[in-house]
Order: sequence, then C-alpha cells, then structure tokens
Amino acid sequence: MKIIPLGGLGEIGKNMMVVEYNSQILIIDAGIAFPSEINSNSGFGVADTKYLSDKKNMIKGILITHGHDDHIGGLSYFLSQFQVPVYSTPLTKNFIEFKIGNKNKDNLHIVDFYESYKLGEFQFQFFPVCHSIPDSAGILVKTATASLVHTGDFKFDDNPTIGNPINTEYLSSLSSNKNLILCSDSTYAEKPGHTDSESVLATNLEEIIRNAQGRVLVATFSSLLSRVQQIINISTKLERKVAVVGRSMIRNLNFALDSGYVRDPKNTVISLKESSNLHDNQIVLITTGAQGEINSAMGLISNMRHSELKIQKGDTVVISSSPIPGNEVRYSHMINNIFRQGGEVIYQSISLVHVHGHGSQNDLKRMITLVRPKYFIPIHGETRHLVAHAKIAENSGVEAQNIFLIEDGYTVEITKDKAILGPRVASGTTYINH
Ligand SMILES: [Zn+2]
Repeated sequence: MKIIPLGGLGEIGKNMMVVEYNSQILIIDAGIAFPSEINSNSGFGVADTKYLSDKKNMIKGILITHGHDDHIGGLSYFLSQFQVPVYSTPLTKNFIEFKIGNKNKDNLHIVDFYESYKLGEFQFQFFPVCHSIPDSAGILVKTATASLVHTGDFKFDDNPTIGNPINTEYLSSLSSNKNLILCSDSTYAEKPGHTDSESVLATNLEEIIRNAQGRVLVATFSSLLSRVQQIINISTKLERKVAVVGRSMIRNLNFALDSGYVRDPKNTVISLKESSNLHDNQIVLITTGAQGEINSAMGLISNMRHSELKIQKGDTVVISSSPIPGNEVRYSHMINNIFRQGGEVIYQSISLVHVHGHGSQNDLKRMITLVRPKYFIPIHGETRHLVAHAKIAENSGVEAQNIFLIEDGYTVEITKDKAILGPRVASGTTYINH
C-alpha cells in the first residue's frame, strides 16, 4: 500500500491524500488553500493532480472527512477531471452540494459511521471525531497488506455541544489491524496541553449576554454550528430572540434546524425583519464575518457598508473566533472600527469567547497512544507543525524509523514487513476560479 499526500503536508490547507494498492486508488479530501483570499488574485489554490492524470481509471472513489473548505473546496474542480463517487457523512454532503451545485450530484453518497464499505480492493469505515463543524469523521482504510487511520481534523471534546465525545474504545480497537499507519492532524502540534471543550464557553457567553444593556451581535464561522447552538440555548434562557445575518449562516442554520443538528425547541430563532419589532435588550444577532472578511456581514457592518445594520451605542459585539494566521491586520481593523462607532467589542485576547477545533499536544499524544500504530505520518500542517508532531509520536512510543516526516508529493510504501520512503511524485498548487 502506498500513501502519497498531494496537499496539506508542509502547508495549512488544500488537503488531499492518495492511497494506492494493486493499481487501484482511493483519495481522501479535496480542499483549497487556506485562507483562500490570499490567493484571490490568481484564483484559488488546489492540489496539483498531475500524478493522477494517467491513472484516471484506477481511481475508485474519494472520501471526504468534513465540510470545511480546506477539505471540500477543490472538489468541484476535482470532479470535473475525475468522474468518481464521493463518500461523506450527511451534513458534509450538504456542504458539498452547496459548493458544487447541481453538477455531479449523482456522484455523492452518504456513509454511516462504523459501517464497512468496499471499493475495489479497499475496505473503508468512517468514525466520528469532534471538530468545529458537526458530522466530522476520521477514516479507516484497509487493504490485504496494510491499514490506514486518517484522523481528519479533530479534537477530543468530552462534553461537545453537538454530537458525542470521540469513541476511545473504537480507537483502541484499531490497533488489531495489521501494519497500521496513523496519519494525524498536526495543526496545533505546537500548543502544549489540551484543547478546551466547546462547552467551556457557555458560562462566559451567558455572562456577556446577561450583562449587555442593548443588542448583542456575535460574529462567528458559519459552519461552527455548535457555537450557534450555544447562543440559541443561552438566548432562550435569557429570553432574548436570535436572528442570523449573512447568507451562508442563514443557509447552514436552516439546514441544521431542518435536519436536527441544531435544536430550537422554544422558537428562539426569528428573522432579522422580525427582530426590528423588539427592544434592543431582547435581541441577539449571529453574523458571518468573524475574520472581518470584506463582503461578510460583520465585515460590512464594521465598515459601515451593511444595508440593514449599523453599530449603535449600547451594542455589545462578540468576535467569537481568533484570527487565522495571515489575517491579523484585517481582524484588528474590524475590532478598531466597531469601537470607533460606539460598540463595545469583546474578543479573544480580552475574554474567553472562542475555543479551537484542533487537538493540542496532549490530545495528539492521546490519539497516538489509543490507536497504537506501527507507522506514523504527521499531516495537516506547515513543516514546523509536522516536526513538532513527529516528536510527540516518538515520545508516545512510535519507533523513530517508523515515523515519516514528509511533505506533499512524497510516497510512503508499506509492505508486509516494512515501510519505506519512495520517490517524490509531481505535486504543487493549481490555481482555479472557484
Ligand atoms: Zn476542519
């Protein structure tokens, strides 16, 4: 079995991995470079798939771990070149449908967690992990020679707002697979300790909303539905109504309410129009634009360009995110602009209003000690993150010669009794129009 990452190793984003066995291929994820706007002049960056161009007939399918853009944003372009079936969990499928429109809809298939599926000589199984979007998965791929566990993006959350904690018994059971290789998320491999549970925010967010004299505006990621659920719960308790602002936020929430991922038993969610009939201290607005993106709801509001909403004195604005690396200047501008217009801004450096979706060092160690793989490849990270994660693996009992510190394009080949580093194949970035 060969493992060939084409994106996401040596960089954050444009994740894509090739698994090859007996002239058959499975792909995991097809993302865009992140944050996407950095490349907006030349288009969006996706993994260069030259390596696959003469292997079209070998590709059995593509498995998608979760609905973030750095995992699905390149799928439309990928499917225009390779007409293969796509497998994902239900919510991820919904995010994919939104991305790719009506084209290739027949290629999309839903998987159930823990169910075994067969594609050619591959067997695969999705298992649930906690992350900052519901229905996230890790994937087990089995062949006659070796097995792969791909964690996707993950954290251990023992008290998640949506879904269940990671099933540690299942992870422990994986070590019975022969020649097991673990590919694990390195995004926060430099961060000591344990990543907080989503639920630790509840007390603080409640306190902020309770103390607010006027409207509360909360900007967060439109796919961070657990945060939206928390705001709905708190607002219900404090007898405020919630309206959502921003196209992607409205779309995601409507789908999540319809399909039961988010619950609103007391009909706390109303439209923005309905909220205009309420007193300011009865309103919470959840908006897109937690990064200050120029055309997002909070981006427009903070620049006084939003057609329906203006910051007014008495507003409390919670920026429930932290800046994505490379985005710090714009993030800071957004906060300054809101203050200038008379809003009270509450953000991560002054108050705990955000937790991350990726495991820190103790969580990464926990994953390795549960799965107990023979081989290890740190994935999803810049070189420095991969190096930090490789050290964690060594400290967690993986033999040093069985840890492969590689970047995009490298091949790791696993045979019956060993794994070796093979040749580097074509890799890089292709720029596309989204
Ligand atoms: Zn993610």
